[in-house]
Amino acid sequence: MQKETIKIAIAGPRGRMGSEAVKLVEDTAHFELVGAIDRTYNREKLSDVMISSSEAVIYTDITECFSETAPDVLIDLTTPEIGKLHTKIALEHGVRPVVGTTGFSESDLNELMELTDEKGIGAIIAPNFALGAVLMMKFSQMAANYFTDVEIIEQHHDQKLDAPSGTALKTAEMISAVREAKMQGHPDEKEILPGARGADQNGIRLHSVRLPGLIAHQEVMFGGDGQTLKIRHDSYNRASFMSGVKLAVEQVMKIDQLVYGLENIIE
Ligand code: NAP
Repeated sequence: MQKETIKIAIAGPRGRMGSEAVKLVEDTAHFELVGAIDRTYNREKLSDVMISSSEAVIYTDITECFSETAPDVLIDLTTPEIGKLHTKIALEHGVRPVVGTTGFSESDLNELMELTDEKGIGAIIAPNFALGAVLMMKFSQMAANYFTDVEIIEQHHDQKLDAPSGTALKTAEMISAVREAKMQGHPDEKEILPGARGADQNGIRLHSVRLPGLIAHQEVMFGGDGQTLKIRHDSYNRASFMSGVKLAVEQVMKIDQLVYGLENIIE
């Protein structure tokens, strides 16, 4: 059976993630790119400003984009402040947001969840769209039932704005849901340089590495008597996130609440 066409607008189409999302939409038979939101190139065609075959028009005003192109879904891959604003405007216009932008706080998420409930349409916010990363988080949660000592080392390119990464925070949250609360390390340990032991979430230490050359990598390291267990995921390019974006666009059409995290939409 032929799948129904999903009309999509992309915010941040010229960005590293956004340009991959443009490719994904162009290459998917039942997806149609109807518009793009950028802060420059108002009313120009996407194909005139980037490598793309899309005739979709760029808008600097997201509400004009929504009223003129009537998308079903907004894919947002921008920055935390603008991504949050776009998500709110999308919900207010009945457009289902699929948000890959990271850096939303818990209160941002609560606010967006309330708005989604009020509007009764689906929304998906996922700090990591790589399916392998989602499995890394799930396997880490499984391991935390047996190993209570754990530290998370995430590594990203040096243009990333938020630290720790949304994935590291989400992993710590998933581990905390099953792990006995515990302070790790020596009770008398002292940081000679502040920050040396990383950030602390529920006693779990999170370490952020930022270097050119990296894309997105995370190792969850568990320690037990005479053994360590390392669960690691590496994204070597941004195409690694696109199978998750595709799945989220398809799923967001079928739900009527906000789902945070891709792990909640895969079996
Ligand atoms: P990027 O290359 O800097 O792209 C960001 C894009 O947003 C740029 O095109 C930028 O345009 C645009 N933008 C900024 N302000 C805007 C505004 N006011 N209106 C419209 N567009 C605006 O960043 P990236 O590496 O693609 O990452 C984008 C987001 O995705 C980040 O939050 C990142 O952490 C996140 N991310 C998520 C995943 C995931 O799996 N969920 C994976 C990787 C990255 P200008 O060129 O004009 O600045």
